[in-house]
Amino acid sequence: MGKPTGFLEYVRRSVSDRDPALRVQDFNEFHIHLDEAQRREQGARCMDCGTPFCQSDYGCPVDNLIPEWNDLVYHGRWQEAFGRLMKTNNFPEYTGRVCPAPCESACVLAINEPAVTIKDNECAIIDRAYDSGLMKPRVPAWRSGKRIAIVGSGPAGLAAADQLNQAGHLVTVFERDDRIGGLLMYGIPNMKLDKRLVEQRNAIMASEGIEFRPGVWVGRDIDPQQLIAEWDAVLLTVGATKPRDLPTPGRELNGIHFAMDFLRANTRSLLDSELADGNYISAKDKHVIVIGGGDTGTDCIGTSIRHGARSITNFELLSKPAAERSAEYPWPVYPRLLKNDYGHEEVQARFGADPRQFSILTKEFLGNDQGAVSAVTTVRVKWHKPPGERPQMEEIPGSEQRWPADLVLLAMGFVGPEDDVASQLGLERDARSNIRADYGAFSTSKPKVFAAGDARRGQSLVVWAIKEGREAAREVDRFLMGRTVLP
Ligand SMILES: Cc1cc2nc3c(=O)[nH]c(=O)nc-3n(C[C@H](O)[C@H](O)[C@H](O)COP(=O)(O)OP(=O)(O)OC[C@H]3O[C@@H](n4cnc5c(N)ncnc54)[C@H](O)[C@@H]3O)c2cc1C
Ligand code: SF4
Repeated sequence: MGKPTGFLEYVRRSVSDRDPALRVQDFNEFHIHLDEAQRREQGARCMDCGTPFCQSDYGCPVDNLIPEWNDLVYHGRWQEAFGRLMKTNNFPEYTGRVCPAPCESACVLAINEPAVTIKDNECAIIDRAYDSGLMKPRVPAWRSGKRIAIVGSGPAGLAAADQLNQAGHLVTVFERDDRIGGLLMYGIPNMKLDKRLVEQRNAIMASEGIEFRPGVWVGRDIDPQQLIAEWDAVLLTVGATKPRDLPTPGRELNGIHFAMDFLRANTRSLLDSELADGNYISAKDKHVIVIGGGDTGTDCIGTSIRHGARSITNFELLSKPAAERSAEYPWPVYPRLLKNDYGHEEVQARFGADPRQFSILTKEFLGNDQGAVSAVTTVRVKWHKPPGERPQMEEIPGSEQRWPADLVLLAMGFVGPEDDVASQLGLERDARSNIRADYGAFSTSKPKVFAAGDARRGQSLVVWAIKEGREAAREVDRFLMGRTVLP
């Protein structure tokens, strides 16, 4: 423990963000990092707990060595902190930016004080490592001669590729999109995760010997059976990107899009041409309705405001969460709390009101003469939970409303992986249509074929995808070699 009195002396200081009114004029990252002295103070707040709950099952899924590197940050021993960080997390530059930080909800200090800034400390360690040239390619000295095909280049596939390559195997990653990164590239927008970071990391991995094949859709461009025949093992990390639809009257009208179609096209156009090619769905001067909260909904809000939307409203079927922990979510459980995310702040700054409407049900999409959406009708609902039963929803009579709408974005989550590869291989699925593969073993119903990440567990988090990618790599290594050198 670097400074025994650190948590008494220093208050929590998170990274600050650029002024919402200014940052909506571009798609650049919005965090402003602390200087070194301030960052070291934040490291000093860690109490090096006897039982570090930040690392427990409630905390960090990848088991980051959090108290160790907090101490090293306090002492300014950045190189050692970087070494510790890379032992457990292949991509801290991603989790340090986009993770909801379950480690902080579980931090012991959070019982009666604001938690240690674990996520920001992580981000500072890895950003410094890049800036100071510590982050170098590590080309494996030995090759096993075994070939592994990974399908899908999101964080699960990339983490597995990194691990398996370091274990000496020859890894090829197939990706249907034109750029490598999965939802890191085309889901999470640039202002939250700068795509130069993703490209920089992909370039390092390529220089370490990983072969990337973007633009290859397995199941269309190449038969998955061919992968099984020609490679020693196949790992499916295809994500869970089949969107949940809203079969409401008027759904067929123009101007109603799935969130991912909106977000993907925006990032691609931004990277290809700074949006000059016009190959994206524009929210400019439109009344935008985003249906569904969560990260995807927030990213639609943040993107729409940058386009210059006329108004932005966000519908959420569930009731408004509490602002603080209650008996329902005692420490150290990760709580469902009202989160003021970046998009909400930006709408508040631009239009003077929070965009979110809670406990609201979409009833119908109304159109104009050209077949385009022009309004959405809703009704308010109330929720109650009879003992022992699931929560039930009841419409409130007389609460019907009509909202002007030129663009509707459906961000109500995802219902599982797309069918092509799993169907063509005849893989077993679970009740939620995810590819069936037991956690820990990651083997599917087909010999030689493994599955991990969202494709196996359903839409989740980047940190869980990294965790599953690492662990699936370990099992693939064991399958190929009879034992494993991977953690
Ligand atoms: C808009 C949005 C915002 C999010 N924000 C956050 C956040 O802030 N923090 C967080 O922790 N999590 C966030 N998430 C969740 C997180 O991005 C995912 O949990 C994570 O990316 C899952 O990783 P994965 O590798 O399993 O799959 P994905 O990242 O989905 O990658 C799967 C890849 O497989 C490719 N693929 C699929 N089928 C084929 C095929 N047949 N052939 C070739 N390639 C194929 C896909 O194109 C995709 O690139 C967000 C999700 C979305 C949609
Ligand atoms: S729980 Fe919080 S205070 Fe304790 S070791 Fe982890 S980060 Fe430090």
